[in-house]
Amino acid sequence: MIEIKNLNKAYNLGEENGCEVLKGINLTIHDGEMTAIMGASGAGKSTLLHILSCIDRYDNGEYLLDGELIGRMGDARMAEIRNEKMGIVMQDFALIEDFTALENVMMPLDFSAKKRRKKEKRNMALEALEAVSMKEYAGKPVCKLSGGQKQRVAIARGLVNRPEILFADEPTGALDSVTSGEIMKLLRTLNEKGTTMVIVTHDRLVAESCDRIIKIVDGRVQDIA
Ligand code: ADP
Ligand code: ADP
Repeated sequence: MIEIKNLNKAYNLGEENGCEVLKGINLTIHDGEMTAIMGASGAGKSTLLHILSCIDRYDNGEYLLDGELIGRMGDARMAEIRNEKMGIVMQDFALIEDFTALENVMMPLDFSAKKRRKKEKRNMALEALEAVSMKEYAGKPVCKLSGGQKQRVAIARGLVNRPEILFADEPTGALDSVTSGEIMKLLRTLNEKGTTMVIVTHDRLVAESCDRIIKIVDGRVQDIA
């Protein structure tokens, strides 16, 4: 469970380009929920997602993940939590185009604190590709895949560590509406199998296919459904 209390984040405060982005965010996300985060461009959606996924730190307030306070912990423990509990699907896929789908999906396992044999990593990656119906493309370089296929590979890479929570930044942003619908169906299936989903999106249709929509307005949360 994610519990955020009165959380603040600013960039470059005191400087000319300084800005307070998150101004007292309060938010609870329960295990098993599929939550959409919406808000205008520049509202702080990515900033919040980076904080939730332990990529960035916050300034004030509390972030409790399964009862553990994130703010006080060191970088090593943050990285460990990110590895053990979280999967992240970046905006614009962030795949390595010359590498195969399988190589891309195996990558997070190389950063994991858990040492695994190559064969085990390969099997985990194949399993993740199977979960997104991309196993037969395992050996293809990513540059040969379509947009929807790339997004599936990016999701498989987010799943490869078998995370409790999957964070996705605009997972349908680069896709046409049919492909976007297919990706949302896939995310819902994964959610029904037990993965908590947190999805940043501009797309109202995408947001409405989630259990709940959170909107960031003026640095604060408006729960709209
Ligand atoms: P959104 O994802 O909703 O578009 P962001 O979280 O990316 O919003 O950005 C919120 C605001 O914070 C924007 O004004 C952006 O320019 C600023 N910002 C984001 N990241 C940084 C950073 N690393 N340094 C300085 N300003 C930043
Ligand atoms: P999104 O489109 O998801 O909102 P952005 O394009 O705003 O993301 O930001 C992409 C990256 O650039 C993020 O890591 C963010 O922290 C950083 N960033 C955004 N705005 C600024 C800024 N004004 N100064 C420095 N870094 C920024």
